[in-house]
Amino acid sequence: MSAYITSLLTEVESKNPAEPEFHQAVHEVLESIGLVLDRHPEYRSARILERMIEPERVIMFRVPWLDDRGEVHINRGFRIEMNSAIGPYKGGLRFHPSVNLGILKFLAFEQVFKNSLTTLPMGGGKGGADFDPKGKSDAEVMRFCQSFMTELARHIGPNTDVPAGDIGVGGREIGYLFGQYKRMRNEFTGAITGKGLNWGGSLIRPEATGYGCVYFAAEMLASRKETLEGKRCLVSGSGNVAQFTIEKLLDLGAKPLTLSDSSGSVYDEAGIDRGKLDFVKQLKNVRRGRIQEYAEVYPGAVYVEADPLSGTHPVWNYAADAAFPSATQNEITAADADNLLQNGVTLVAEGANMPTVHAGISRFLDAGILYGPGKAANAGGVAVSGLEMAQNSMRYGWTRDEVDDRLRIIMKAIHAVCLSTADRFDQSGNYVVGANIAGFLKVADAMLDQGVV
Ligand code: NAP
Repeated sequence: MSAYITSLLTEVESKNPAEPEFHQAVHEVLESIGLVLDRHPEYRSARILERMIEPERVIMFRVPWLDDRGEVHINRGFRIEMNSAIGPYKGGLRFHPSVNLGILKFLAFEQVFKNSLTTLPMGGGKGGADFDPKGKSDAEVMRFCQSFMTELARHIGPNTDVPAGDIGVGGREIGYLFGQYKRMRNEFTGAITGKGLNWGGSLIRPEATGYGCVYFAAEMLASRKETLEGKRCLVSGSGNVAQFTIEKLLDLGAKPLTLSDSSGSVYDEAGIDRGKLDFVKQLKNVRRGRIQEYAEVYPGAVYVEADPLSGTHPVWNYAADAAFPSATQNEITAADADNLLQNGVTLVAEGANMPTVHAGISRFLDAGILYGPGKAANAGGVAVSGLEMAQNSMRYGWTRDEVDDRLRIIMKAIHAVCLSTADRFDQSGNYVVGANIAGFLKVADAMLDQGVV
């Protein structure tokens, strides 16, 4: 790493203390961008990296709300407007008790590069709150969403900043958020994506991140003349991304074996088939229950409770061919990466954002397996959000097949640009370098064109 990049990283750490996830995300990108600066000193003299690391705007606000017993609760709301060089800020909202400024800055930073890769005109942002929707009634979730949007509404809009869902923010929350936005602004616009189908949503948006991740994995395999047919797959999480990853894996003839939530994980040696997946969708999206129930209903499955102190995650310790982390950040430790490699995994496609720790990524790259980093592999979600924005602008809706075809084309294009960029910088087959540099170049060139702003 050059002295310049090292000093930038040191500055990021001292200027943004107590934000380890943000440091981690910046470190991973800057390591790749060092290769570009040798060939393009103009980015350094225009201080493009320094500007990309500093959010254009950070909004933090109080979110007061009343529970069903009339008691007052206060949460902290955020929106990070990271970079608008190539389009309006775009990125999801996360409602989870772990949410803090550093986590949202890491997500917003990643989003800038991811959105650039999609081929669509979207800047990067992210937001959310340290609110836990688990165990709350629908009425409590609605009151929280309305209070959150009462402040957020003044900062967003279809040409300014367009939020979507993420962990803890699904169709129910998007409905309440959009309803309050519309009421406050007195206008019906595409200021949020992930909307319901009969009020401005796009077909395939719920499926897009999981489907896109599997399309990306299929592309990676095709580069080695392989397919997903018959591949044993480990999937973590059991939310939106995990469910539609499993659905598309089944479409393509693979055999998904695992699921998890924050309480524990299940391993089903017989495979998770469509009937079992329907059970999971009902369990998680309607009844909002725990994944442990899967093992109670399907006795062949093994349930293992989560142990946060163990340093490894049981999901990554079964014999398999491929892994699809689809829960949260840093869910694959270095020891998990070793387990995956020892158990025969030769493909990792990240549905979640930054699910692999830095040392784990190095293990995968050293082993020469197919490793698709989140900012490329899970870009299908925001890509279809971009297509939802396009449909809203046209006041028109494409068919399921039209959106799915466009998603497939976009994932193919992202895969191709990652490989060609990695080649161009003498890092053949390295999707990390390819994704970081390709994502960077488009934004950096736009920033150069637009002057010092
Ligand atoms: P989701 O529907 O809320 O599901 C999240 C899943 O991950 C749940 O099973 C949840 O378990 C588990 N999980 C969350 N935090 C966890 C933690 N700290 N430890 C262990 N398990 C945890 O969210 P999602 O939309 O599927 O998002 C999953 C990942 O994909 C996130 O990294 C997100 O940023 C990324 N992503 C999502 C999209 C999208 O379109 N939704 C797009 C790109 C990337 P519990 O139910 O127990 O909390």
